Amino acid sequence: MAEACPRCGTEFLLGSRFCHSCGARRPEAMSATARADAADIAGLWERAVDRVRSLVEGISLENFVRKIRIPQWLHYLHFHEIKRWIGLPTASLIAFGVGLACIAGALLVGLLTVKTLVDWQAIQFYRAEWLLGATASFVAGILLKKPSGN
Ligand SMILES: [Zn+2]
Repeated sequence: MAEACPRCGTEFLLGSRFCHSCGARRPEAMSATARADAADIAGLWERAVDRVRSLVEGISLENFVRKIRIPQWLHYLHFHEIKRWIGLPTASLIAFGVGLACIAGALLVGLLTVKTLVDWQAIQFYRAEWLLGATASFVAGILLKKPSGN
């Protein structure tokens, strides 16, 4: 244990944990071996941090992107490419996509299995709602489409 208070310099009473004069906590005196251990641990920690940093720099996003080569055909899936291909304005194309998703939902409802008539009816309602959503979305797509010149 430390002999004198680091804050006010008063000598600690025997066996005390706090300074009787200013109330500061009595710090543990470091033995030589403890200090060496602390230095060792600090060195280990610094080396570990360095290693992690070099590792992270190694797998940075830039290297990652450079390694993965994007296939040539993938550019057909770009939004503007699809837009040009289908020939719809952006809002209509988004509505069209939502409509397709609703149809997919209506089809996926068919995967549910039921045992009772009430459940079966509920599923018919789900399906009808998905199809209504798809219809609304397609209609919105038609309405959002700018009229062609003629
Ligand atoms: Zn003190």
